[in-house]
Amino acid sequence: MQPQQTVAYIGIGGNLGDARATVEQAIVRLAALPQSLLLRSSSLYRTAPVDSSGDDYVNAVAEVATSLSARELLRALQQIELDHGRERPYRNAPRTLDLDVLLYGDEHIADEALTVPHPRMAQRAFVLAPLLEIAPDIAIPGLGRAHPLLALITGQPISKL
Ligand code: ATP
Ligand code: CA
Ligand code: CA
Repeated sequence: MQPQQTVAYIGIGGNLGDARATVEQAIVRLAALPQSLLLRSSSLYRTAPVDSSGDDYVNAVAEVATSLSARELLRALQQIELDHGRERPYRNAPRTLDLDVLLYGDEHIADEALTVPHPRMAQRAFVLAPLLEIAPDIAIPGLGRAHPLLALITGQPISKL
């Protein structure tokens, strides 16, 4: 990792088509992000939809060190989503691939296109379980350690694939 790089965590999910294959391909694409290094990726997890609908989701989290700005990173993630046929017919619709910037270093970002830390991550087992697998001591800026937050979530069964 180079000195000017920032460690970012990316949430990966999908529930349309072969979601498992899509999430695996997305991790390969994250490993090829420009000016970035894929440091770790979690196991794949299966969960019933939370805040969404349709089939079960496959989720994972990846850790990258990147020289991209947070906005550049989001744009690159959106291109990968598009390459996987992502459409947004309505809010929280089932999707082939969803890539969210969960954390970007310890930065707080709030503009029209990007909110970091991801505002709903602390309420989602499908984010926290894979995140804690690869970063057990991670803290969410403004909220503190993520580990105790997972225990507060009820009614979101999640299993490793
Ligand atoms: P949720 O944000 O609840 O996980 P979603 O992932 O289904 O919902 P999308 O339709 O994928 O929502 O994204 C809607 C918009 O959210 C995007 O156009 C993007 O500009 C914005 N956005 C804001 N913050 C983030 C972030 N941290 N990561 C990804 N997109 C973000
Ligand atoms: Ca999302
Ligand atoms: Ca998204």
